[in-house]
Amino acid sequence: MDSEPAHGLSAGMSAMSPPIARTVAELRAHVRRWRAGGETVGFVPTMGALHEGHLSLVRLAKDRARRAVASVFVNPTQFGPNEDFDAYPRDERRDAELLASVGCDLLYAPTAAEMYPPGFATTITVAGVTEPLDGAARPGHFAGVATVVAKLLLQCGPDVAVFGEKDYQQLQVIRRLVVDLDIPVEILGGPTARAGDGLALSSRNAYLTPDERVVAAALNRTLAAAVAQLRAGRAAVEVEADAVRRLAEAGFGRIDYVEVRDAENLARLGPGPVGGPARILAAALLGRTRLIDNMAV
Ligand code: AMP
Repeated sequence: MDSEPAHGLSAGMSAMSPPIARTVAELRAHVRRWRAGGETVGFVPTMGALHEGHLSLVRLAKDRARRAVASVFVNPTQFGPNEDFDAYPRDERRDAELLASVGCDLLYAPTAAEMYPPGFATTITVAGVTEPLDGAARPGHFAGVATVVAKLLLQCGPDVAVFGEKDYQQLQVIRRLVVDLDIPVEILGGPTARAGDGLALSSRNAYLTPDERVVAAALNRTLAAAVAQLRAGRAAVEVEADAVRRLAEAGFGRIDYVEVRDAENLARLGPGPVGGPARILAAALLGRTRLIDNMAV
């Protein structure tokens, strides 16, 4: 909570922060008031530690709807037992200021107890698109994501929800989820915001040492080279193997995958030249930091 609430604003708000809803009831009260005035609502779910990538999604939401809601919730159920849930960066005041700077109308920041009260027993699993890639590398991750995103969408009830192509598999999982569960929302994918050297912006980039940060740019460079090879008609299996070799040479440790997949259902493509819409996706470790990236082919 703010230590010095500005005059006329309730606790948790300041001139540099949008109002903050902590409960489903508070969130719904805001949305109900907007809807009564005929206003549309865009929604951007995040885990905080916001950067330009998140802010670009809020801008997209504001382009598409009169009001924009961003949520910040570090969802425990999408982290594996040996992942970085405890270490994940958290700075609500900074997040709120950044959200205010792009015209976000409401920050929804529920507690874990609000999201998962005693007795909580439901998990949503999406088959197919969750199975390869990060689904294989991070067991349970997408069930955690699907469940929390379904809850957030049902809590907020937005007209449009914006997700980053940075997490391309997650975006496809959410597209499947809202169709299958008849959740009445349009899902919009936002382009990946990158640093000058091509590295996809990520809250986890904060973990990188200065040396690792230099090496990290090789991930995007390698994918760009792979896309060029695929467009020239080189076989997917050869391009994938070449990319893995380049990442290892650049200094990456464990390489979880570099794979060319169908752009929608993420089915395996190849082994030969790629025909229809495809995506190349990669995940690799740099020290203890796991980086992901992807590009359209
Ligand atoms: P996160 O806070 O990492 O869970 O991400 C919240 C949302 O922001 C997700 O829809 C992400 O795909 C999206 N996002 C994260 N990084 C970027 C980026 N560099 N460019 C665009 N969107 C991003």
